[in-house]
Amino acid sequence: TIKPLSDLTIAQQAEMLPVKQIAEKLGLQEDDLDLYGKYKAKLSFDVIDRMATREDGKLILVTAINPTPAGEGKSTVTVGLGQALNQLDKQAIVCLREPSLGPTMGLKGGAAGGGFSQVLPMEDINLHFTGDMHAITSAHNTISAILDNHLHQGNDLGIDVRKIVWKRVLDLNDRALRHVTIGLGGSAHGVPREDGFDITVASEIMAILCLADSLTDLEARIKRIVVAYDRDNEPITAEQIGAAGAATLLLKEAFKPNLVQTLEQTPALVHGGPFANIAHGCNSLIATKTALKLGEYVVTEAGFGADLGAEKFCHIKSRIGKLNPDAVVLVATVRALKMHGGVAKDQLHVENVGAVGNGLKLLAKHVETMGKLGLPTVVALNRFNSDTAEELAAVLDWCEANHIRVALSEVWSNGGQGGRALAEAVIDTIESNESAFTPLYALTDSIEQKILTIAREVYGAADVTFTATAKKQMAQIEANGWQHLPICMAKTPFSLSDDPTKLGYQHGFTVTVRELKPSVGAGFLVALTGNVLTMPGLPKQPAALNMGIDETGKAIGLF
Ligand code: ADP
Repeated sequence: TIKPLSDLTIAQQAEMLPVKQIAEKLGLQEDDLDLYGKYKAKLSFDVIDRMATREDGKLILVTAINPTPAGEGKSTVTVGLGQALNQLDKQAIVCLREPSLGPTMGLKGGAAGGGFSQVLPMEDINLHFTGDMHAITSAHNTISAILDNHLHQGNDLGIDVRKIVWKRVLDLNDRALRHVTIGLGGSAHGVPREDGFDITVASEIMAILCLADSLTDLEARIKRIVVAYDRDNEPITAEQIGAAGAATLLLKEAFKPNLVQTLEQTPALVHGGPFANIAHGCNSLIATKTALKLGEYVVTEAGFGADLGAEKFCHIKSRIGKLNPDAVVLVATVRALKMHGGVAKDQLHVENVGAVGNGLKLLAKHVETMGKLGLPTVVALNRFNSDTAEELAAVLDWCEANHIRVALSEVWSNGGQGGRALAEAVIDTIESNESAFTPLYALTDSIEQKILTIAREVYGAADVTFTATAKKQMAQIEANGWQHLPICMAKTPFSLSDDPTKLGYQHGFTVTVRELKPSVGAGFLVALTGNVLTMPGLPKQPAALNMGIDETGKAIGLF
């Protein structure tokens, strides 16, 4: 067999159009763009204001079954489906998250799609891009610096230094920074205390940037961030320490959506990228809303599998942004179905039709959940070279027998051409107008009820238990009047349950909520069901070890 080209090689061989021409395809002029070089631009706020009264295009959400650690190919299918719609003469726009340097340097390489379905310029998007991550890092750390200065200058607000909940951030995987001591060196150097770093994409500022619908809303949300509690346990906000204005100012360019293109010159907005566990895991609302004004079809994705990403897309992003998804594309792979059907991770390349069959119950569960949300679903079977004809047929036949729409996706190996069947199935679904999106819980439900609804309806759990800590935190959240916020579940993506080792279809289990943390600025309550690392570490062989530049200055080793 021939070794496939690397993503980087494919990207570097591609011919890009100047971004001005991509904008023209969307009916925009040069004046509507802030150019960042030739191939990247930010959309000016004028465009966004001018489009306000236009009718929205159709919204397609790409999600997946519970993934293998390598990912199911959601970004790849999102890009490929956009390209395929474009080939069918539909005005399609792809909306993706911005990659973080943590996973880029660490494990996985980029998050800009793969194979013949990528967004470009791939190196830039995966590295510094238009500087949004740096702006978010600076905005976050400005609040930290103002907070520590407040302590140093006399602590007029009576902040309890043991109850500071605002850490510092950096956009790298650096486990040595998880716990640090700051303010050492004597009284001229600040107040000594324990602190720690999170990765930038875990910052509440990132979640806020992705949920705000205007600069005014951005500032209002930043003002509401709770940075600490005082000695009477009353919350202290970013507004109270005077940090909200400066943080908003630092974000005024980062808040504008980034316009780029795919390998087939389909327009793409790549903007924002919050964690999918302690945050909601979707690209910015402002990018999605702008894309809906500019395109007939908008293809976007949400992090992890349907139990996390799609649930939060529906209950957090769509609710805040008044979005109505028109169709869901549920990505599945033979590999993941085999894994959920009982095959060990190092045996996934071996044909096993029986195991594929065993895994299908999990697929059925996710299709059923999307149905409960009122969302029509098309399964996209993301084809890998190692899949056999019998394994692929097992999935396709089963879907057809169960009246589940399905299409084989070959967008990784064949670009938009490989996504035509999927695009046709999606168009057909949307044109039959079946979407009747209904959230599963009401914001007025109690915190306990909201979590119970998600656990029962989406995960298939029988019950939820709350630890003593979580109960205490729930009481405090209620005392502060934050109980009306939606829930952001932090759960393992690998299992329907809260136990990452329980693969395949699970039901009737009990979910344990260990902690509840309010993200008042972002506007949700995080329910933690396990340990979530908000500052990942690098693996033994970080992807960064292979990176460098060649003699012409071109990137090498970026996967
Ligand atoms: P997700 O968005 O679900 O995390 P990605 O689209 O980022 O997944 O894909 C994860 C990795 O798998 C990428 O490196 C991508 O190139 C690769 N990949 C995706 N689909 C295929 C496929 N059909 N064949 C081979 N590699 C694939």
